Amino acid sequence: MSHPNPTHHNTPPASQAGADPHWVVHMNHVNRSWSWAVLGLLVGVHLWPASPPGRVWLALALQFLLYPQLLYWRARRAPQPFRAEMHNMLFDAGVLGAWSAALGFPLWIAFLFGIGPCINLVAFQGARGVFSALAAHSLGAVVLGLLVGWHWAPDTRLPVALLAIAALSGYLVMYGLGANARTLKLHQVREQLRRNEQALQVQLDEIQLLQTQLKAQVDRDHLTGLYNRRHLAATIDRELARCARDDAPISAMMVDIDHFKRINDTHGHPVGDEVLKAVAGVLTQALRAGDIACRYGGEEFLLLLPGMPLAAAKARAQDICHQVAALRLSAEGVALQVCVSVGVAEAPQNATDAASLIRQADAALYRAKEMGRNRVETSS
Ligand code: GH3
Ligand code: MG
Ligand code: MG
Repeated sequence: MSHPNPTHHNTPPASQAGADPHWVVHMNHVNRSWSWAVLGLLVGVHLWPASPPGRVWLALALQFLLYPQLLYWRARRAPQPFRAEMHNMLFDAGVLGAWSAALGFPLWIAFLFGIGPCINLVAFQGARGVFSALAAHSLGAVVLGLLVGWHWAPDTRLPVALLAIAALSGYLVMYGLGANARTLKLHQVREQLRRNEQALQVQLDEIQLLQTQLKAQVDRDHLTGLYNRRHLAATIDRELARCARDDAPISAMMVDIDHFKRINDTHGHPVGDEVLKAVAGVLTQALRAGDIACRYGGEEFLLLLPGMPLAAAKARAQDICHQVAALRLSAEGVALQVCVSVGVAEAPQNATDAASLIRQADAALYRAKEMGRNRVETSS
């Protein structure tokens, strides 16, 4: 009898010459070697009182000791060892059927010879295994019966019955132990898988979070939190096209801090940074949903106002100018006066594409600077 693994139904790849044998081949070799030795002993005990001739003992030795080694040799060399081992189990059933018939179907021996291959094949093939085992077993018995004639001697003596019961019990206990070991192993593997899955999920969440943060950072200026020029470049054409489609205006507002260099030079870069953040705060407050504010350059900002006509944008720019001028900023206890100049342009009134809209807003800003700063100029 071989010791099956009920979980294995796939055909694994062929073993390499010289490599370790397929695990099923190895397992069946070990189990077949000892279980066939026990079966041979059973037949020997059965035949003993009849004092059979030497050739019978030789046949028993060849069948129950050598045969398992031959099957192992065959399966190891087969291109598909697992398939070969399935065939070996059918051989087992056939050969044991033949022995049953040769012995005249002694009850306990015939029972063991029949049930052993059945259990093994069921373990690997499911219910189908019962039929293939019984078919092979019957075939073996019929062939032998036809060759040497039928012979009927079902009685078994007590020692044979006891040995058969012991052998079957041993087999079942080993079968149970094997199943137990596999169940535990399966449980451990599942646990490990579950832990790996959890760890993987944590890592995935982290990656997703990082991706979200990265996406946000890619589009944002890290100092002010406003959008950067990259984002503006990626969206301005779409916004212009959308407004053109809706027959709506869109205004651009270029905001530049006046004499910002002086603030840096007088109070230092960190104070300059605070001023940039404060101005960005005013701009953010002035935004409606859908407006886009970006840091266009060092101390220059661009506001894109979809749907807003030039006059409204100018009024909004003047509000911004007043709010920046009203900021209460200080450096080392000294009050800081900050103001901005703003140039405003509108599409389609002053421009029809993104580049010229920005150019027009920039030109208006230049005029605002020229005309004394802290003021708003519009594109003409
Ligand atoms: P104007 O009124 O004509 O605009 O003069 P301005 O001094 O504001 O303009 P200018 O272009 O001469 O100077 C801009 C300065 O902004 C120069 C640069 O060092 C500074 N700057 C650019 N980026 C940053 C920044 O991120 N932080 C700080 N603190 N300063 C910056
Ligand atoms: Mg400036
Ligand atoms: Mg500037």
